[in-house]
Amino acid sequence: MWKNKSYDVIVVGGGPAGSTFALHAAKAGLSVIILEKDRDIGMPVRCGEAVSDAGLRIFHEPQDRWIRSSIDRIKLVAPNKTEVEFGLKEHGYILDRRIFDYDLAQFAGNAGAKIVTKAYVNGLLFDNDAVNGVKGLYLNEPFELKAKLVVGADGVESRVGRFAGISTSIKLKDMESGIQKTVSGINVQSDRIDFYLSSFWSPGGYLWVFPKGDHMANIGLGISGTYARQGKSACRFLDEFLDEYYPTASVLTTVVGGVPVAKTLKQITADGLMLVGDAARTVNPVTGGGIVSGMRSGLLAAETAIEVLKTGKIATVSNMKSYNKAWTKIGGKSHERLYRIKEAIYKFQDSDLNRIADAIIKIPEKDRNLFKLFSTAVVNKPSLLIDVARLFTGI
Ligand SMILES: Cc1cc2nc3c(=O)[nH]c(=O)nc-3n(C[C@H](O)[C@H](O)[C@H](O)COP(=O)(O)OP(=O)(O)OC[C@H]3O[C@@H](n4cnc5c(N)ncnc54)[C@H](O)[C@@H]3O)c2cc1C
Repeated sequence: MWKNKSYDVIVVGGGPAGSTFALHAAKAGLSVIILEKDRDIGMPVRCGEAVSDAGLRIFHEPQDRWIRSSIDRIKLVAPNKTEVEFGLKEHGYILDRRIFDYDLAQFAGNAGAKIVTKAYVNGLLFDNDAVNGVKGLYLNEPFELKAKLVVGADGVESRVGRFAGISTSIKLKDMESGIQKTVSGINVQSDRIDFYLSSFWSPGGYLWVFPKGDHMANIGLGISGTYARQGKSACRFLDEFLDEYYPTASVLTTVVGGVPVAKTLKQITADGLMLVGDAARTVNPVTGGGIVSGMRSGLLAAETAIEVLKTGKIATVSNMKSYNKAWTKIGGKSHERLYRIKEAIYKFQDSDLNRIADAIIKIPEKDRNLFKLFSTAVVNKPSLLIDVARLFTGI
C-alpha cells in the first residue's frame, strides 16, 4: 500500500511539470510518488492548449492523439478591427490536454512512479525545519507520507511553497484573470490562431481563438488583475465577444483560472523542497504559456534531484543550487526579459495598437513576420525602444 512506504520523492500535483519531474526521476531509479487531488489526471483542463512544436519536441515526439489542430498562421485584430494575418515560421499545435496530461502521467507511471489520484495534500511534515514529507486526505481519510524530497508541482494556486515558508505572493497586476469557453457549432480556420488586442475586449491582456478542428475552438481571454477589480468580470467580456463574433456557438466547457504573468519566484527551493511549473511561476509573462516552461522546470529540477539523491546527499538548499542555476540559465534569463517586454507592451494604448496594425497591413503578407511586427511597433511607439534598451542594458 502506497501509504505505508517512504519515498525518495513525493510530487504534489500531476500536471505537466509534476509528471515531467516524475518521469525523469523515476527513470533514474528514484522512488517517486505523485499525489494528485483531482479524480482524473488532466481534468479539468484550465488551458488554451497552445504549444510550439519546438517546445514540445524538447521532451517528446508530438503524437497525433494529442493534437487537435496544427497551427501555421496567426491573425491579430486591432482595436479598430484592422486584421493583420501572416504565416508563422514556427509550427505549433492546439493540444487535447485531457489526453496529453494523461499520457505524460502514464509515461511517469511506466517509468516506475506511483500515481495516486484523489490525494489532497494539505500540509507538510518537518524535521528540524527541513521538509520531510506531506500530510493530506485520501478519500477523506487523513494520511502522512515521508520522503527525502517534496516537489511542489501544485499549479498556480500552489500552497506547498507557502507551507514551507516561501513567499509566494504575487502583485495584482501580474495575475491575469483567465476565462475560456470551449465552443462548437462555429466556423474557424483550423490552421490559424487569432488574437484580439483591445482594451474593449480584454483590458491589460488579450483574447484568443484557438481552433480545435474546423468547427470547434477554445475561446478565452485574460484580463490583468488590476482591471478585474473594476466591475466588469472576465466572463462578461467573453460572453459579449461570443455574442458579437460567434453567435451560433454552443458552449461545451467553461473554465476559469489565474495565469501568473510574473517573474519566477526568487526562492524555488527550501530544505527538502523544490517548486516547479506554475507553483514556481515559470509561465511566459508575454504569452501566458506555461506548459513547456513548466515541463522545462520539471526536467531541470529532476536533474538536480537525481544528482543529489543518487549520491546520498541531503536535499538542502545549498545541495540543490544547480536547479536555481540551471533555471536561471535556460529559462530564467529569458523569463526576466519577457517580463520586461510584457511591462512595456502593457503600456500600449488602443491608439498605439491601431497605428501599428495600420502600418503593418501595408507590408505585403509574404513579408510579414513577428520580427517585422515588433520593429513596426518600435517605429510607431518610440518609447518602446527605451523600454527595450532598458531591457538589454538592465537599467
Ligand atoms: C485560461 C488559461 C489558458 C491557458 N492557456 C495556455 C496555453 O494556451 N498554452 C500554455 O502553454 N499555457 C496556457 N496556460 C497555462 C498552463 O495551463 C499552465 O502554465 C500549466 O498547466 C502549468 O502546469 P503545472 O504542471 O505547473 O500546473 P497544473 O497543470 O495546474 O497542474 C497542477 C496540478 O496540481 C494539482 N494540485 C493542486 N493542489 C494540489 C494539492 N494540494 N494536492 C494535490 N494535488 C494538487 C492540480 O489538481 C493539478 O492537477 C493557460 C492557463 C489558463 C488559466
